[in-house]
Amino acid sequence: MPGVPLVCHVLLIETNSGLVLVDSGFGSHDCHDPAQRIGVFRHVIRPMLHHVETAAHQVKELGFDIADVRHIVLTHFDLDHIGGLADFPDAQIHVTAAEAFGAVHSPSLRERIRYRCGQWAHGPNLVEHTPDGEPWRGFAAAKPLQTVDEGIVLVSMPGHTRGHAAVAVDAGHRWVLHAGDAFYHLGTLDGYSRVPLALRAQDALISYDRSQLRANQARLSELYRRGDPDLLIVCAHDPGVYEHARATA
Ligand SMILES: [Zn+2]
Repeated sequence: MPGVPLVCHVLLIETNSGLVLVDSGFGSHDCHDPAQRIGVFRHVIRPMLHHVETAAHQVKELGFDIADVRHIVLTHFDLDHIGGLADFPDAQIHVTAAEAFGAVHSPSLRERIRYRCGQWAHGPNLVEHTPDGEPWRGFAAAKPLQTVDEGIVLVSMPGHTRGHAAVAVDAGHRWVLHAGDAFYHLGTLDGYSRVPLALRAQDALISYDRSQLRANQARLSELYRRGDPDLLIVCAHDPGVYEHARATA
């Protein structure tokens, strides 16, 4: 985005049954053909599409094989989160049923414009979940993804999109809560850092349900300010949040 540097934060998790990604960022197909894959949005968000930054490239750099990635858990279906799916054709793709409904099965006109169906033209193996289990730290609906790993929980956090979710990962000494695009900038949670105007505008303009978004941001902010030592909250796009997560890993 012009004037506001953003990252596309993808989590890689090593489990007993293979590798798991949370989101997939932009992928190699987006780098090859941004006009077809991303369309006019590329002029708005202006992504730096470098192969070396794709999840697939970085997984291989770490010495793994693409096929070692067995599962990808998505926060939502926006183009900057699912572009890498085609690089992992054998992985199971986990998403909320509400998100799959609004993006793939029965999108409204607005959702049809928002999502880029070419990014899933390869026919990913979707596994849909309805988070209706125990509450998770104040969020009413969550579901442990036991078929993926015991320590991975899909936490329903709608608002940015119809079926947006956060993904909580038990990292042993703490939980990492990847909140996707439930917030863009730490200022939304800490209450004193200034959120750039462009991000505030985007937050308001493209959210599917603004009141759900605000309610979930209020709960995230409450959790952040409480400062539980066993919880790290990250989002997809704030470079400062990303650097802090790396530094305290
Ligand atoms: Zn995003």
